Amino acid sequence: MNIMGKVTAIVLAAGKGNRMHSEIPKQYLEVYNKPILYYALHAFEQSQVDNIVLVTRQEDIAYCKEQIIDKYGIQKVTDIVQGGEERYWSVYNGLKTCRETGYVLIHDSARPCIGVERINEMIEEVVRIGACTFGVPVKDTIKVVNEDGYGIDTPPRRYLWQIQTPQVFEAGLIKEAYERLYNDTTAGNITDDAMVVEHYMDRTVKMTMADYKNIKVTTPEDMDIARIFLKA
Ligand code: C5P
Repeated sequence: MNIMGKVTAIVLAAGKGNRMHSEIPKQYLEVYNKPILYYALHAFEQSQVDNIVLVTRQEDIAYCKEQIIDKYGIQKVTDIVQGGEERYWSVYNGLKTCRETGYVLIHDSARPCIGVERINEMIEEVVRIGACTFGVPVKDTIKVVNEDGYGIDTPPRRYLWQIQTPQVFEAGLIKEAYERLYNDTTAGNITDDAMVVEHYMDRTVKMTMADYKNIKVTTPEDMDIARIFLKA
């Protein structure tokens, strides 16, 4: 495959993980004696990406460097930058380090079960398509509810996908989209990167079938599920 420019993975680890109800942010909880964050870094290390930008909280930078990157010999991490209050500000800070053209993969460190082959497939896909995201068709019926908790709509299931990461873009496209978001004082409710590209660049993002195992560790029972998938 002929890839023009550098392929950078931005790994997001600046969240507090309130829904885990743990003193320690979820990305540092351990599975098989290694922090959750290690697993995504390891997968990108083994993949075709050229470099990794890790985004974390200021107070965790030294820990990440010494206890994860140095300890496990992760060599592709070129930058560790401070995250922001919201996920999208963490992405923005990570994107500021990407000065070269090429492609950017944005990944939640809370998804430790991402596989190396899947990452490489995504790189091939973005070279062809320019903007794509991993996702899986929903298995359950999804309801829209009102403020009082009553269902008001049931969108047809065949059009509904659960979005995962990595989400992958041409570098110029995602950087411009986030610049426009940065300059939009009315922005809010941004929960993934594809919606930033859709909204500010008026561009559709290709849905790429991912893996139901690529869960986001969010609530305590997810730790048990991650343990099962990471064992394999
Ligand atoms: O909160 P949520 O589970 O949606 O977070 C997804 C990912 O984004 C996590 O890996 C988390 O560490 C990261 N994040 C971040 N900066 C924030 C909030 C979340 O890097 N301000």
